Amino acid sequence: MSEPIGSHPHEDRVFAPPAGLAADANLKADVYERAAKDRLGFWAEQAERISWSEPFTEVLDWSNPPFAKWFTGGRLNAAYNCVDRHVEAGNGDRVALHFVGEPGDTRDITYAQLKDEVSQAANALTGLGVRAGDRVVIYLPMIPEAVVAMLACARLGAPHTVVFGGFSADALASRVLDCDARLVITADGGHRRGAASPLKPAVDEALAKLGRKNPVEHVVVVRRTGQETAFDGATDVWWHEVVGGASTAHTPEAFDSEHPLYVMYTSGTTGKPKGILHTTGGYLVQTAYSFWGVFDHKPDDVYWCTADIGWVTGHSYLVYGPLANGVTQVLYEGTPDTPHKGRWWEIVQDKKVTLFYTAPTAIRTCMKWGERIPAEYDLSTLRVLGSVGESINPEAYLWYRDNIGQRKAPIVDTWWQTETGGHMITPLPGVTAAKPGSAMTPLPGISVDVVDDAGNSVPNGESGYLVVREPWPAMLRTIWGDDERYKETYWSRWEGLSLYFAGDGAKRDADGAIWLLGRVDDVMNVSGHRLSTTEIESALVSHPKVAEAAVVGAADETTGQAVVAFVILRESAADGGADLTTELAAHVRREIGPIAKPKRILVVPELPKTRSGKIMRRLLRDVAENRAIGDATTLADTTVMTQITAGLSASS
Ligand code: ATP
Ligand code: MG
Repeated sequence: MSEPIGSHPHEDRVFAPPAGLAADANLKADVYERAAKDRLGFWAEQAERISWSEPFTEVLDWSNPPFAKWFTGGRLNAAYNCVDRHVEAGNGDRVALHFVGEPGDTRDITYAQLKDEVSQAANALTGLGVRAGDRVVIYLPMIPEAVVAMLACARLGAPHTVVFGGFSADALASRVLDCDARLVITADGGHRRGAASPLKPAVDEALAKLGRKNPVEHVVVVRRTGQETAFDGATDVWWHEVVGGASTAHTPEAFDSEHPLYVMYTSGTTGKPKGILHTTGGYLVQTAYSFWGVFDHKPDDVYWCTADIGWVTGHSYLVYGPLANGVTQVLYEGTPDTPHKGRWWEIVQDKKVTLFYTAPTAIRTCMKWGERIPAEYDLSTLRVLGSVGESINPEAYLWYRDNIGQRKAPIVDTWWQTETGGHMITPLPGVTAAKPGSAMTPLPGISVDVVDDAGNSVPNGESGYLVVREPWPAMLRTIWGDDERYKETYWSRWEGLSLYFAGDGAKRDADGAIWLLGRVDDVMNVSGHRLSTTEIESALVSHPKVAEAAVVGAADETTGQAVVAFVILRESAADGGADLTTELAAHVRREIGPIAKPKRILVVPELPKTRSGKIMRRLLRDVAENRAIGDATTLADTTVMTQITAGLSASS
C-alpha cells in the first residue's frame, strides 16, 4: 500500500501520563522490555493471575499453525475465577455489580450473592439438560441475569452465544442455527428509551421460522418488564422459577485450557458475521492481564463499560476481564439519553465511577448534544478513560479529555477485534505519552506489525496492512464449524508467511506510533491515490459544525473513485447555513490536501451503524452509487437508511 495522503494529524499535542498515576501504575515502562525479552515467559507470568486447578505444562503449542493451543495441560473453570475465588479470598461483601435499570430501579450485587445466583443458574441449566459442550444462546437486555447466565454457562463448560437483545428474529435464527444451540435464555423484554421493548416474541418467531431445523429444547425467560408474554408450557420456563428454586450449592468442574468458552459473531460491518470461537485459559489470562494493566485497575476503583454484552467488549471487558480481577462495576440497562441526555454522567457522579470505557460513536453523540450537559455533573472521580470500536478522531479525543476527563484522566484508545479477544494495541495510562487519534503501541506481550504487499515491515512514516506476527493467548481458535474459512480469512493473505491479517490499514508515524486508518476494504482510490476513511472523517469532525462523518469512495468516470461524505451536524449548527458544503469541502482541502476534497457532501440526520456503533460504509456506498441498499439486517436502527434516502431525495 502506498502512503495515504495527509499523514499528519492536525492535532500535534502529546499528553503525558499524570505524575501521580504514573508513579503508582500497575504497568510501568520496564514492562515492554521484560515482555520482549521472553514473550512466552511473560505470558506464563500473566497466567498466574488465574487460579488453575491443574497447572499447564506448556505455554504455547503452535505445532499446527494457525491452530494455537495456549497453556496446554492446564485445567480451570472461568466462572470460579470470576466469582468464587473472590468470595474465598474474603471479598464476598464487595459489590460486583451496581445495576442501574433504565426506569431508575437499582440493585447492588455482591460477589457472595453473585456466586449464589450463578450456582443456582448452573443447577437450573443442568436440570434442563445442558451438559458441557452444549451451546446456549443468550438474548437478554443489560440486566444482571445476563452476566449470571454467561457465567453459569462458563461454569458448566457450555459455550454461550450472546445475541444482542433487539437483533431481529432473523439474525437470532441464523445464529441459533449456526451454533446449533440447545437452549435459549431470554426475557419478556427490556427497558429502552422509556418503553418496555419486547424480546420473547423475537425468540418465538426465530424458532418457529427454523421449523424442523430448530435445535432448541427449552427457552428460559427472565421476567424483567412484566409485560404480557406468550408462553408455551412445553418448552418455556420462567427464570425465577427454575433458577430461583435451585440450590445455591454447585461445585465447578475444571475444564481443559482449550475448552470452548463462547462463540461470538462479529459485528458484520463488512459482510456476513463470522462465529468467532474463544476458548478458556488463554482468553482469561489475556483479558484479566489487559484489564488490570490498561485500565490500571485497583481494588477500590469503580469501573463502567458502556458496551452491550452482545458485543465482544461486553464479554472481555464487562464480564471476564473485570470480574477475574474482582472489580466493582456499573451495569446500565438503557440508553444515554433516557430520561435525559445527562444520564450517563449522572450515573458516573452517583456511583463515583473512576474507570470508564466507551466508544467514539457515543462520544461524538455527546459532542453533538454539547458540553453543557456533562458540565452539570461531578465527574472528578474519573481517572482513566477508554475508547474502543473505531479510531477516535482527534476532535472527539480532545472533547472526551476536556469535558469528561477533566483534562487529567489519560485516554486509552484500545485497538482490538472480536477475533483478538482482548486488547492488542493501546497506550498504557501510566507510561505512554499519548497522541490523540493514535492507538500508539502494541500491548506488552503482543507482536503487532505494519507490513507491505510482500509482508515486509514498513519503515516509520509509512503505512500498510496491520498484522499480528506471533500467536497471542486470547486469539480466536477458529470460525465455528469452518476451519477452512478461518485459514482463508485470517492466515492466507501472504503465502508462506504465518501472519494474521486483521483487515485494517495502519500507519507507523515518525516515532513508530501506530495510527489505524480504517478497513482495507474501505480504502478509497482517487486518481491513483489511496485515501484513508479515518483521516478524512477526522478532518470533517474537526470542523466546528460537524458532529459525525462517514466517507466512502463512489465510482467516478474520471478519477476512478470520488470521495463522497455524509455528515451529521452538531445541534448548535442548526441548519448549517447555505454554503455549508462548500465550506466543509474547503476545510478538508485545507486539513489534508486537494486530492481528499469530497466531491459530494450530504447532510444526513443519522448514519447507518451496527449494534456496536460502527458505521456500515458499504450501505452508504450503495447510496452514493445510486444502487439498491444491500443487506441491512445487522443495523442498530433499520429505519436509518430510509431516513437518509428520503432526506436526500427531498433536498435534491
Ligand atoms: P466484521 O468483521 O463482521 O465486518 P467488525 O470488524 O465491525 O465486523 P468487530 O470485531 O466488532 O467487528 O470490530 C473490530 C474492528 O473495529 C477492527 O478491525 C477495527 O476496524 C475497528 N476498531 C476497533 N477498535 C479500534 C480502535 N481503537 N481504533 C481503530 N479501529 C478500531
Ligand atoms: Mg472485523
